Amino acid sequence: MIKHNFSAGPSILPKEVMKTASDAILEINNSGLSLIEISHRSKDFVDIMDNATSTALELLDLQNKGYKALFLQGGASLQFLMTAYNLLESKSGYLDTGSWSTKAIKEAKLFGDVIEVASSKEKNFNYVPKNFNIDPDLDYLHITTNNTIFGTQVKNIPETKVPLVADMSSDIFSKNIDFSKFSLIYAGAQKNMGPAGTTLVIIKEDVLGKVTRKIPSMLNYQIHIDKKSMFNTPPVFAVYTSMLTLEWLKKNGGISAIEKKNSLKANLIYNEIDSNELFEGFAEIEDRSYMNATFNLKNQEHKDIFNQMCLEANISGVNGHRSVGGYRASIYNAMEISSVNILVEVMKELKNKV
Ligand SMILES: *Cc1c(COP(=O)(O)O)cnc(C)c1O
Repeated sequence: MIKHNFSAGPSILPKEVMKTASDAILEINNSGLSLIEISHRSKDFVDIMDNATSTALELLDLQNKGYKALFLQGGASLQFLMTAYNLLESKSGYLDTGSWSTKAIKEAKLFGDVIEVASSKEKNFNYVPKNFNIDPDLDYLHITTNNTIFGTQVKNIPETKVPLVADMSSDIFSKNIDFSKFSLIYAGAQKNMGPAGTTLVIIKEDVLGKVTRKIPSMLNYQIHIDKKSMFNTPPVFAVYTSMLTLEWLKKNGGISAIEKKNSLKANLIYNEIDSNELFEGFAEIEDRSYMNATFNLKNQEHKDIFNQMCLEANISGVNGHRSVGGYRASIYNAMEISSVNILVEVMKELKNKV
């Protein structure tokens, strides 16, 4: 049975990636050995790590521009503190657009001053603040490009000369932006790239080496760069599967091609939310996320029947986050247009059932 997986994370991955990753658990590269029982120092795995990091940089158009790609552990949540540990000397700026940025702010405060340049908290984060002032003396400005829980997305990267740091966990590789505007980008694999267990970190090396504190080795970006993400044993399965997804993306036309597909999917679902009188969207229209569409039924009495219809249509993972309620359809890169059409059909069909 095929399920249409709208889960926010861990989330849908391409079927062919899952098949190749499963095969590699049994045997990698005709070696007679499993991916998860070979040395991470073996040529088989070193090639995988090299390929994963170089494909990531290639897709983001960051090759030969002073950037390094790392695959680390600890999730995006560890990056909340690692970014501040490595970059925050005196004061930093944070755009507060949801639960994840709020958590990043909490960690950064352990290392220095944090200026909240703007927040959309007063409206339960249903929009992205714009036109805020950015102190030119900030060590860096941190933004969360896509707010997975609330379904908003930063459409215009703030213009500033201070180094930009971004949590792109839920929209990296989904649309083309000028990634070279950022000094540091991080993304937990489990939203748009691979299984949980690894985090992609992209760093422009010139942003490092500016803090005076001593940094423990495992939290030190420079050490991970020098050791090519192999300071300690990397999460081999998560890195391998992420590599497969990145290769899949490259083979299918890269970010420009997936961006077209993603905007088609987003338009399908938002058009239905806006034209169907039984539903309403959560996020302000101009800030709507192309990865996570948040919406609700206008009449909560229709909930049981809509949930039942979703179940019967094999739609999975559309329940909203507890801090927003309602529904959230996550339509990451691997989600097919046909699956979005099924959800839209069920939304249309609800009109005949109530
Ligand atoms: C899921 C998510 C996180 C948390 O990621 P972990 O890998 O679980 O730490 C952080 N930021 C954003 C934007 C997310 O979507």
